[in-house]
Amino acid sequence: MFILKVLTILKTIFIHYQCILCLQKTKQGLCQHCQNALAKESLLHKRRKLTINGQPITLYAFNHFEGLTRKLLFLFKYQKNHIAGVFLGQYMKKAFQRQPFLNDVDYILPVPSHRLRFLVRGFNQAEILAKHIIKQNQILDIRSIKRMKYTKPQAKSNYQQRQIQMHNVFIQTKSISAQHLLIVDDVYTTGATITSLVNTLQNEPTNQITKISILTLCLA
Ligand SMILES: [Zn+2]
Repeated sequence: MFILKVLTILKTIFIHYQCILCLQKTKQGLCQHCQNALAKESLLHKRRKLTINGQPITLYAFNHFEGLTRKLLFLFKYQKNHIAGVFLGQYMKKAFQRQPFLNDVDYILPVPSHRLRFLVRGFNQAEILAKHIIKQNQILDIRSIKRMKYTKPQAKSNYQQRQIQMHNVFIQTKSISAQHLLIVDDVYTTGATITSLVNTLQNEPTNQITKISILTLCLA
């Protein structure tokens, strides 16, 4: 046990002096070279116009699901690398601040994760990203919507399968009142998750939501 503890401490010290992407020496977690490369990726802002149940909704994304952004997201989600999470949160914040169309957002809703996934992973990545972008006078809501069904990762399903899986995945437990509600997620793949969440919001008659937009880190 003692040896295991010492090894864990040594690993932590060692990893802190390495770039989490290219393993070059650095004290910043991510070396300057990788930071510059990521900043270049951040110039590639994506925007997509969607229509969900007749409601026009704009999706903003930081990058395609590729390059260093994808690698960092993998480290964050599957290897629980918190440094990757901090950098992704910062890039997401920059993407958010650069969008004048999102200036009036007053309500932020991260896509909820199922409690089983939360237990296994220890966090909800959408919630962590949302916590990085939140500004004063904005509401961060992690309670009003619950994810009731445990679903497989999207990459393994096609759109039709995914739509069936995602039917009635979310339930709303509290009314929402927002001028401009922003849904935050890490990856937009088939769109079935976001559509299901928007449907839940649209079907709750006590909600008062004027406008909905979506911000994701990656567009797959
Ligand atoms: Zn590096």
